[in-house]
Amino acid sequence: NPTPKLHFPLPAMPSPISRTVAVIGAGAAGISAALELRREGHRVVVYEQEDKLGGTWVYTPQTEADPLGLDPTRDVVHSSVYASLRTNLPREVMGFRAYPFVATGKPGRDPRRFPAHDEVLEYLRDFAEEFGVEEMVRYGREVWHVGMAADDRRWVVKSRRSGGGDDDDDDDEVYDAVVICNGHYSEPRIANLPGIDEWPGKQIHSHNYRIPDPFRDQVVVLIGSAASADDISRDIARFAKEVHVASRSAEVDKIGKFPGHDNIWLHSMIESVHRDGTVAFHDGDKTVADVILHCTGYKFYFPFLETNKAVTVEDNRVGPLYQHVFPPALAPWLSFVGLPWKVVPFPQFELQSRWIAGVLSGRITLESNEEMSADIEAFYSSLEAAGIPKRYTHQMGESQFEYDDWLAAKSGSPPIEEWRKQMYLVTGRRKRSVPETYRDQWEDDDLMALAYQEFKLSKL
Ligand code: FAD
Repeated sequence: NPTPKLHFPLPAMPSPISRTVAVIGAGAAGISAALELRREGHRVVVYEQEDKLGGTWVYTPQTEADPLGLDPTRDVVHSSVYASLRTNLPREVMGFRAYPFVATGKPGRDPRRFPAHDEVLEYLRDFAEEFGVEEMVRYGREVWHVGMAADDRRWVVKSRRSGGGDDDDDDDEVYDAVVICNGHYSEPRIANLPGIDEWPGKQIHSHNYRIPDPFRDQVVVLIGSAASADDISRDIARFAKEVHVASRSAEVDKIGKFPGHDNIWLHSMIESVHRDGTVAFHDGDKTVADVILHCTGYKFYFPFLETNKAVTVEDNRVGPLYQHVFPPALAPWLSFVGLPWKVVPFPQFELQSRWIAGVLSGRITLESNEEMSADIEAFYSSLEAAGIPKRYTHQMGESQFEYDDWLAAKSGSPPIEEWRKQMYLVTGRRKRSVPETYRDQWEDDDLMALAYQEFKLSKL
């Protein structure tokens, strides 16, 4: 593909009021928020506990001392990326709309359409460099407290040098607003397994999975059916003796050996585990396993946030939040970017951030507290009526584009491009029908042509 001609820098927006804003985290959400806030004329400080930007895309071979990631006193490793990870979205879909994710042709870069994780990190660095984001970031600063200032109007952000030690230097600063972008793939959720206290094998959460080599000749039971489970089961099967995937959502006619694999089986969920190492599945099958690998997702976690219960996390619902962003009681002075999952994250970060930035400057009028609360109430009731548990509050899937377009309309941005929506849907279908090859063979050249045509014209 030809390298598109991009149009930068982004124009600044008219800005009636400039605020001081703290952004917590310099992952993809934080750098997008910082850019949009600054474009709107706000004065921004981004706090990042690591010494580089990129969040979950900063791969590290390091894992945590507790392989299940449950010990609250453990030293947390932020990233959950494994060595073999390639994106599960094509780069055209995945990239920010203000800065398309195209192959740069630079030496050492991965030009593939579904590139390896380090290409995503390089792309985020390019984005930050292009827009001068790094000058807003304070690296190596862990935020340990965000709460109301004494005037009950502004926010105190307390941070310290990451890693602590003797030269701890606490720092308190006061801001008009705080935007939370701390990510939600570092605090593991694990499956409850009857008999687990007696089961003698090893357990690990995918957060602490990096490479398959340690599973050589082992019998591994992997729980889960989302993207990481798909990837990791195949990654491990190259080394393990057997891989048994236990999935709550396994379709009955797919239970049994994975097509194209000699040593991977799909099962229904685990029924119980036993002292002799046996793992019994609801489908009646049993195996004696060495390892149970939980690919069972993550919890939202804001250990630094003190809101006097204005925002809580209950069964993985962060709430109450208006449109997954503003808690009515504290809006617009506290906001969240990046909570929804099963989405195309980067373009959604841009839209959420643009909305927040515009509301803070007074360019966009936010609904009243009562209107926001009524909207949240209606949303929660609709989930309940549909039998959707609280923990799926922020799951979106196909409804994401309606949400994105709503944000776009609010913030004066164009709706999500039709080719992007179609490409997302086509990719999802191919991921399910040809999971082994969807990253290297595709059938949507027509959509790619539209995307690249638009990138050349991009003026978002
Ligand atoms: P993060 O990237 O997690 O960034 C949060 C940042 O906040 C981090 O830098 C962290 O250090 C910092 N931070 C946290 N707490 C504090 C604190 N107290 N003080 C200071 N700093 C703090 N998305 C895709 O689009 N395509 C994919 O193919 C894809 N694959 C994925 C595969 C895996 C295994 C995972 C886990 C996620 C994947 N995602 C994918 C989703 C991915 O999470 C998003 O792309 C995106 O990186 C999320 O960005 P974020 O900024 O919200 O969070």
